[in-house]
Amino acid sequence: MPAILLALGTNLGDRVANLARARDLLEQNVLRIQAVSPIYETEPWGVLDQPRFLNQILSGVTDLEPEALLDRVKDIERAMGRIFGGVRYGPRIIDIDILAYDDLVFRSPRLTIPHARLPERAFVLVPLADIAPDWRHPLLGLSIVEMLAKLDASGVFPYGR
Ligand code: ADP
Ligand code: MG
Repeated sequence: MPAILLALGTNLGDRVANLARARDLLEQNVLRIQAVSPIYETEPWGVLDQPRFLNQILSGVTDLEPEALLDRVKDIERAMGRIFGGVRYGPRIIDIDILAYDDLVFRSPRLTIPHARLPERAFVLVPLADIAPDWRHPLLGLSIVEMLAKLDASGVFPYGR
């Protein structure tokens, strides 16, 4: 079965509970989870005047095709009460991004794999380094450590440990 990496982010309400609920719904509908990263708290990105995010990465296996996977992920965001049409990069109960799907390079109007902003997001690369240190970006040929070396990760803090 294809191996996938998903990124979770939340900055509204009970953030730890939001991550737990998302993991449950993903396990029931999307993938068999194989690894869960520690949680990190991060400064907001893009829109700065909003609560801090909690971020976490999951890895696992799925039998869904990429676009069906995106549909399921969007269903879960909706089920958890995420309001669409708000400010891009603004506050959200849950954001679930598909980071990688095997070594696939995929681009359609609604889905880009690997996730287009992965190489520039320390809050994704730091937890990725914890659970998938050997993963390499199939398009850029860079490892997680190599991508992280180009970024400022000083706004990414271990949470609750
Ligand atoms: P963002 O995650 O960039 O903060 P959204 O969650 O609102 O913003 O996503 C906007 C759109 O990005 C989604 O509706 C989806 O169609 C598209 N998208 C493209 N590639 C991906 C991906 N790899 N994972 C999740 N969404 C993606
Ligand atoms: Mg998203």
